[in-house]
Amino acid sequence: MTDVPQQPAGDTRQGDLDGEQIGQRWRLARRSTEVTHLDAAAAARASEATIDAQTAFLRSESERGAYVAQLGAADLLAAARGTLAKLLGPELGADDVVFHQSASAAFAALLAAWPLSAPGPSGNRRFVGVVPGEFDSNLLALEARAAAAGVVLVDLPVDGQGAVDLDQLDRTGIADGRGGPPISLGDLALVVFPQVPSQRGVPQPAAEIGRRCADAGVPLIVDVAQSLGQTDTGGIGASAYVGTSRKWLCGPRGVGFVVVRPDVADQLGIGVPSGYSARHAVHTGDQQVPPVPLPGAARLATGEASIAAQVGLAHALGELVDAGPARLTARIAALAAYGRRVLDGAGGWQVRERLDEPTGIITLAPPPGTDPMAVRDSLYREERILISAIPVGRSRDLREPLLRASPHAYNIPADLDHLAHALKVHSPRSRGA
Ligand SMILES: *Cc1c(COP(=O)(O)O)cnc(C)c1O
Repeated sequence: MTDVPQQPAGDTRQGDLDGEQIGQRWRLARRSTEVTHLDAAAAARASEATIDAQTAFLRSESERGAYVAQLGAADLLAAARGTLAKLLGPELGADDVVFHQSASAAFAALLAAWPLSAPGPSGNRRFVGVVPGEFDSNLLALEARAAAAGVVLVDLPVDGQGAVDLDQLDRTGIADGRGGPPISLGDLALVVFPQVPSQRGVPQPAAEIGRRCADAGVPLIVDVAQSLGQTDTGGIGASAYVGTSRKWLCGPRGVGFVVVRPDVADQLGIGVPSGYSARHAVHTGDQQVPPVPLPGAARLATGEASIAAQVGLAHALGELVDAGPARLTARIAALAAYGRRVLDGAGGWQVRERLDEPTGIITLAPPPGTDPMAVRDSLYREERILISAIPVGRSRDLREPLLRASPHAYNIPADLDHLAHALKVHSPRSRGA
């Protein structure tokens, strides 16, 4: 069995060797299982050490006292917040990161705090730029916030793969969706997009969009839930980010985070009002006055949380830093490139990405008349292969349900061969052939 996909270029052997070493290290750090995990984009496998760190913390909550244990973990959690900040840009630090329960909850709190109804410098910014591939839960939060603030969501122009078309953005601008004259980027009150969407392994040109937003003075929120840990997230320079633990970071479920640039944080309102995010204003008359946000990113905090899950994420981030984020992303992309080659056409399924897209997400369009949900179920039941079926409700740009396979560094090419073989067996078209 070759663990290293054949590369077309001549000078990649060292990279391949490196990838196999890191792959083996990550495999050995996890318990063996009869399940072929190819589902990191939904929830990756945590290492045994990460699970041990969590269970040890749970025990110490019971033995020492929960709040005492939390105090004891303060340095570890601050280091984890520092790591998240560093992965996103040198302008960010540990104090700019706030843990939440999920990326969705973090995004909702961030939007609630965002001063959308205040006019921007040009006085007429009433549009928020989004992409058709936006994660549906985020879109619901955006729609709710836009309706409350009286602003309109408009789509940035995208290509056939859902990536923002920079040329068109620069030359023609943004259609307002109502037949009015095109809007320029500088007219937007805010831009929001996921760096890598859930339903296609194609990254946005995030750094280029970030540069344009910075030049135009337009704030930018980037959702890194599906990108942090599997692709380069540095150099975007966004105003704020949201992300999650359980996907490419290999942390536990139930933790997400929001990161806000310090100069932006002080302009925000309160995410979720509570004693963790706000204090009472001083009353001067008998008029009701709103609470005052705590300084900095703390205004987005929510308080009670699974500290054990945060400890698990901290441990997983330590493993990621030890391995080297660039080595991990190279390993993941190489596995996905191998996977796209062996999966394209298997059982009549069609790969939707270019073979060398630099992400670990492989999406497959079904042969006619095939139900991805049913195939996902039979692959798990009969082959013990874990992948996702993506329903059309996941994003506005989906026309049909899909299968999604997402290898992490701990996978081997044989896992993808197994899936390709199983697709041939479990897809109706080839069953009769
Ligand atoms: C998974 C995902 C989210 C939501 O993350 P949760 O932690 O489940 O809230 C947001 N955006 C994208 C692109 C995702 O893939």
